[in-house]
Amino acid sequence: MRDARAALCDYGRRVVERGYVVGSSGNLSVRDGDLMAVTPTGVQLDRLRPEDCPVVDPAGRVVDGRLAPSSETPMHLALYDTAPDASAIVHTHSVFGAVVATTREVLPAIHYNVLLFGGRDVRVADYATYGTADLARNVRGALAGGRTAALLANHGGVTLGTDLDEAFERTSILEWLCEVYVRACGMGTPRILDDAELADVEARMQG
Ligand SMILES: [Zn+2]
Repeated sequence: MRDARAALCDYGRRVVERGYVVGSSGNLSVRDGDLMAVTPTGVQLDRLRPEDCPVVDPAGRVVDGRLAPSSETPMHLALYDTAPDASAIVHTHSVFGAVVATTREVLPAIHYNVLLFGGRDVRVADYATYGTADLARNVRGALAGGRTAALLANHGGVTLGTDLDEAFERTSILEWLCEVYVRACGMGTPRILDDAELADVEARMQG
C-alpha cells in the first residue's frame, strides 16, 4: 500500500489547492485487493505524510497506521462493496457542489459532460449525519446503476474512479458543472438538454 498512501498525499494536496475542501474536511481512499488506504481523521489533506494514512480491512479495522481513519470510512467501504470497478474515491465539500446539494434534488443536464458520470443527471443523496451507515446507504442509492458521481445533500460531493487520477478528474468536472449551473441560475432559468439531445451525445461517445 506504499504507492496508494503516497498517492493519497499527492491528491490530498491537489484538492486543497483547488479549494475543494477547507480545514480537515474531505477524504480520499484507494482500494487494493481486500484492503483500503484512506486519509486519517482530523488532519488537513495538504499536510499528510504517507504513514499518516491508515490501512483498513473490509470491516473498517485498522491493520496498519497510527491515526484513526476518516469518519467517512463506512461510506468508502460501502461504495467499494457495490462498485467492483472502482479503486479510488474522492469526497469533498466543494462550494458549488455544496450549493447545488443544498438547493436541488439533482444536478440536471445543463451540459453534455454530465453523461461522463453514467447518467443523464447527477443525483443528490438524501441528507444523513456524516460518518453514519445511513449516509453510506443514501450515497450508495444515489450512485445506483453504475454512476460515478453523486452529491450529498447539505454536505458536498463524491466521485469514484479506477484510480485517484480519474476520481479527482471527475471531482473537477463535477464542480465545474455545478458552478456553471449555479451561475446560469443567477442569469435566469437554465435550459436543460432534452433526452434526444443527450441520446445523440451518448451515440457519439460510444462511436
Ligand atoms: Zn464530508
